[in-house]
Amino acid sequence: MDLGLKGRWALVCAASKGLGRGCAEALAGEGVNLVITARGDEVLQATAAALRAANPHVEVRAVAGDIATPEGRAAALAACPQVDILVNNAGGPPPGDFRDWGREQWLAALEANMLAPIELIKATVDAMAARGFGRVVNITSGSVKAPIDVLGLSNGARSGLTGFVAGVARQPRLAGRNVTINNLLPGAFDTERLRKGWAAAVARSGESVEAVADKRRAAIPAQRFGTAEEFGQICAMLCSAQAGYLTGQNILLDGGAYPGTF
Ligand code: NAP
Repeated sequence: MDLGLKGRWALVCAASKGLGRGCAEALAGEGVNLVITARGDEVLQATAAALRAANPHVEVRAVAGDIATPEGRAAALAACPQVDILVNNAGGPPPGDFRDWGREQWLAALEANMLAPIELIKATVDAMAARGFGRVVNITSGSVKAPIDVLGLSNGARSGLTGFVAGVARQPRLAGRNVTINNLLPGAFDTERLRKGWAAAVARSGESVEAVADKRRAAIPAQRFGTAEEFGQICAMLCSAQAGYLTGQNILLDGGAYPGTF
C-alpha cells in the first residue's frame, strides 16, 4: 500500500540507532525527506549515509545535538524546511531505586522524556494544522501501561507526556485539521538499550547474558524480541495519509507481553 507520504519532511529525533533509526528507515522508504538527530555525530553521520545510499531520492539531513536541550531542538527545527511528521524520541532514563534519586535526576528525566517532546509539539503542530496535514508519533514505553519498578524515572516522566498528549491530541483545531498525535509503546526490542539492560541483570544475578536473554524472550508470547525495522514500519503506518482518523492513542508493540484485556 502506498502510504501517501512521498515528498513530506520528517524530523526524527534520536535516530542514529535503535527504534528512532528504524522509524527513519521506514519513512525514507516511503519517500519522506528526513532530518535525523543524535548527540554523537560520528554514528549519526554513518546512519545518514546509509539512509541516503538506500534511498537516493530522499534528502537526509543529520543534525548532531541533545534533543533534551533548547539548543538541540532549535538546530533540529532549523534544518527542517517544514515538519510534516515529528517522531519524538530520546534515550530512556537510567534504572534505579527512587530513594537514590534527587531533583537533578528527576529534572533530567522530565527534560528528555516529557518536556522535549512537548516543546517540539508546541513548535510544530499549529503550522501542520495550517497546512492540513501533520503526524506526531511519540516513542514512549510499554512501562506507561505496565510500570516497571526500577524504571521509576521513566514511568513518571512518560506518564506525564501521555497525559498531556491525551488532551492536546483531541483539540479540534488539531484533530479537525488532519493533525494526529499518537504514542508508540515499545515492549522489548532488540536494540543497544535492551542489551545494556541485560548487562545490569547479569551483574545482579551472576547468570550468563544468554540465560538472561532467553528468560526474557520466553516471557514474551511472541517468543522473540521485536526489531527496530518492524517498529519503524508501524510508525510509518501511523504517519500515513490513511491514518488521519487515528489520534490520541497509546499503541503497544510488545509481542503480546502485556497481559490485560484492554
Ligand atoms: P538505543 O538503541 O540506545 O538508541 C537511542 C538513540 O537515541 C541513539 O541514536 C542515541 O544516540 C539517541 N539519543 C539518546 N539520547 C538522546 C538525546 N538526548 N538527544 C538526541 N539523541 C539521543 O535506544 P532504543 O532501544 O532505540 O530506545 C529508544 C527509546 O525507547 C528510549 O527512550 C527507550 O527507553 C525506549 N524504550 C526502548 C525499549 C526497547 O526494548 N528497546 C523498550 C521500552 C522503551 P546518541 O547516544 O549518540 O545521542
